[in-house]
This record gives sequence, structure tokens and C-alpha cells, in this order.
Amino acid sequence: MTPQEILKQQFGYDTFRPGQGDVIDHIMNHENVLAIMPTGGGKSLCYQIPALLQDGLTLVVSPLISLMKDQVDALNENGIPATFINSSLTYGEINDRFDQAQDGRIKLLYVSPERLDSGYFDRLAELPVELVAIDEAHCISQWGHDFRPSYLNLTATIQQLPSNPTIVALTATATPKVAKDIMDRLQLDAEVKTGFARPNLSFKVVKDQDIDAFLIDYLKTNADQSGIVYASTRKEVERLTKLLQHHKVAATMYHGGLTKNQRRENQDDFLYDRTPVMVATNAFGMGIDKSNVRFVIHAQVPGSLESCYQEAGRAGRDGLPSEAILLFKLADVQIQQFLIDQSERDEQNKQREYEKLQAMTQYANTPECLQKYILGYFGETCDDCGQCSNCLDTRESQDITVDTQKVLSCVKRMNERFGKSLVAQVLAGSSNQRIKQFHFQSLSTYGLMKNRKQKAIADLIDFLTASGYLAAEGGQYPVLKLTPAGVDVLKGETQVFRKEAVKVDHTLPVNS
Ligand code: ADP
Repeated sequence: MTPQEILKQQFGYDTFRPGQGDVIDHIMNHENVLAIMPTGGGKSLCYQIPALLQDGLTLVVSPLISLMKDQVDALNENGIPATFINSSLTYGEINDRFDQAQDGRIKLLYVSPERLDSGYFDRLAELPVELVAIDEAHCISQWGHDFRPSYLNLTATIQQLPSNPTIVALTATATPKVAKDIMDRLQLDAEVKTGFARPNLSFKVVKDQDIDAFLIDYLKTNADQSGIVYASTRKEVERLTKLLQHHKVAATMYHGGLTKNQRRENQDDFLYDRTPVMVATNAFGMGIDKSNVRFVIHAQVPGSLESCYQEAGRAGRDGLPSEAILLFKLADVQIQQFLIDQSERDEQNKQREYEKLQAMTQYANTPECLQKYILGYFGETCDDCGQCSNCLDTRESQDITVDTQKVLSCVKRMNERFGKSLVAQVLAGSSNQRIKQFHFQSLSTYGLMKNRKQKAIADLIDFLTASGYLAAEGGQYPVLKLTPAGVDVLKGETQVFRKEAVKVDHTLPVNS
């Protein structure tokens, strides 16, 4: 049988999605391959079809126990013999499933990465493994946004398998750096990457608005449409859910602090359209295959553009017009900065997290087409999308390069040791005790913006921080420092533009 015939006969589809045929060809030629495809792009078939074409066993490494069961159930319903091994099973059940895999009664065996490390290696080594599929492969890279230590030993484990299997690694989010890291670590031969663009998604950034009012208004305008509202903390998820319910918006919630039953129940209410709106932390969504999600709203800034795009990508899997909205507040960025600061990560790791957050804040402040900005981040190019909040914003952006240089040189002259208020005071030429104490009147930048209100200067500093020209470092009283992008502006190598906050129309395109 050919891959095409299996596609039709077992899965009922007529044509391959972009990239699927290529990935399958590589696998059938025993070449180790990395598949980068957007969420909903159809990654699973890339290894399920070879699994049915080959004589041996396909081992699928997947980090999510809850997902494994769903995937295995779906395969079983299609008459494909598959099972999983994870910590929810007894010792006897595990051995039984190994036996089935060993004597060929099973074509696909799903395991969590931890299982590969633990005491089961001897049993794994006995299996006729012909293909290893590594799902969510970005978890192997420390540059990725979801690094998992249990993925690190995968290469060694796979190499020790006596059956010498082919490897396919799959992910929906990989910057060129992460892709290279995955290729190196797993020693892959080829990469298949399909376009990341999601032409049916309109991206919107809404800045400095009352988030509660925005949400209530938006969800009432789009009542009965299905969508997800993401927040960063469990507490905020609970608060927003209560708020929405109070305003008669049919909303349910999902976060790691709920019981397993509550989570399942709320998830099903959302999946089966009993409750159209899901308010959730990032614990919700991986592997959720709901096609008619019309909008994804980030009520708080996510920690990276990778997670933001992955979560936004859950909208419009059916290809119909949908929206991905980021509600941006600088205070949320500061919370994320604080969380990085306080975390137990080593310095290098913290630096990586800061860089990702920086790209996220730049997204919220770029005057460029938002789809173009995201694709650029993932190493792709495209034309302006014509439908994001920046493409639709007709106002001219102002060149604020000179003002920016004034702020940056003041920060530099104050030796990058002070925070926003004092820098704004020096630029405004105020004469309080602290300014006298540090002799800031004698700085050449003292009073350089004395025709401006201190508040306006502070706003400009916020904008420059959010845009990545300044970094605000340290938890409670952040100190301003120049970033490499800021240094470029000081040297006159780049210009800076600014637009006022964009007003967004609340009506979904599908309704209009
Ligand atoms: P991913 O893992 O890339 O997010 P999935 O493998 O879950 O995506 O596939 C998403 C959906 O697309 C599934 O419902 C799947 O059955 C469907 N699908 C996959 N390949 C095809 C195809 N060639 N034609 C039509 N539908 C497909």
C-alpha cells in the first residue's frame, strides 16, 4: 500500500496537508527528520501512516499523559492497534502492554519521556522498534519555551536501542535556533518546515485599556461564539471567570489547581459547546482539537512569543476568520520580569527568558504588520497581512528618534543606576532633594525635556522599555539600562517610531 492509500482508507482523507507527504517520504527512506508544522497542521499522521506501512513498532514519545489516552482512543476507533504506557498504570498492566508490543499485536506504543529513562529500558530494548516519533520536540532545547529535562536523555536512550530505529521529531514552535538545537541533539538528517502563516487569523494588540471592560464588551458583542481567554495566574483566571459570569457571559475555567474531575468537566463543557468561553492558564489547550474557536484573547502578556503564537493558533483551526488579541499592559511585563528575577534559574537561563520576554513586548509595540513580525521571529518572511491591528491602523507613526536619544543619553549619563522616576525628573529639570544629592543638575541632560510634563516623559520611558530600547532590571525598584537596540539608536543607526494606542473594533469579522 502507498501512504496515499492509507490516508484514504484508514483516515478518510483525500489529500495530504502541506509537508505531510515529504515527512512520510523521509521516514520511509530511513532518514531522521524534523517536522515543523503549525498547530493543527496534521503532525500526527506524519508518523501514524509510516507506522501502518512498516512491519515493526512505532514508539511515540509524548509529554502529556492526558493526550496519550485521547490519541490512542482515536486510533483504536479507526481500527488501529495502539496503546500507551505511563504512570497511571499498574506494573502488571505495563508488562502486559510490553508483551503485546513485543509480539506485534500493537503498531503504535505511546510513552512519556520519563518512562524511557526509568527501569523499563531492558523491556524497551527487546521491542522491534522501527520508528521513534518525538512529539513536542522543542522540549528538548534549552532555547525552547518549554524545556523539559526528561527530554535530554532521549538521544542516548534511542541510540542504545538495538533495533536502530528511524527518528521523526515534531513541533509547532521552533525558532531557527531551536530547530538547529533539535537537529544537533537528535542527529537528524532533514528538516521539513511548512509555512507558519495563519491567513485566517487577524492579530490585534490592545494597549492600556481597562481589561475587564474590554473583555465584557467583547464577549457580549460576540455572544455564542466560542473562544479562549488566557491569563497568567490561577488567581486571575478565577477572578475573570467570576467577573464574566457576573455579567452573564457563559464562561467556564481551567487551571492546574482544579481537581481532575473539574478540569475534565469544564473542558468537555467547552469542547461540546455547552459553555462557549473558556478562561484558562496555559495549562489548557495542548492537544485540544476544537475546530470552531473564533477568538483567543491573552488578558495578560505571555512570557514568550512562542507560547503566545501557539496559544493564539488554537483559534480558527477550521480555516474560518478568527481573532488573536493581546491585551497589553506594561505592568504585566514587569510581573513577568519579576517572576524571572525570583526564579531559581541560573544566570544564563534568566538571560534567555528576558530575551524572550523582550521579543514579546516588542511585538506589542511594533508598528510593523503583526503577522510579519511573528513570522520574522520564526525565521520566515511574508507580505503585510492587511488585517492585523497595525495594518488597519491608518494613523501615521511619528518619528521619535530624537526624543529617544535624549532619554537614552540621560540614562547613560546617570550611569544606568537609577529608575524611571528619577530619570524623568532629571529630564524635566526638577530640583528635588535626590537630584541635588547626586548633583544631577550638572548633567548635560538635566532639563533637556523641560517643556514636557514629567508624566509624559515617564510614559515615553515605559514605551521605550516595552519596545526593548531600555531594560528595567531588578524586582521592586527596577533600574534602567540601555539594551543593544538602545545603543544602536544612540549611535544614530536606527530610528524609532511611535503610534498612539490602537482602538479596536469589537465585532468579529465572521459576524460582519
Ligand atoms: P497537530 O498535531 O499538527 O496540531 P493534528 O495531527 O492533531 O495536528 O491534526 C489536526 C487535525 O487535522 C486532526 O483533526 C486531523 O485529523 C486533521 N488532519 C490531519 N491531516 C489531514 C489531512 N491530510 N486532511 C484533512 N484533515 C487532516
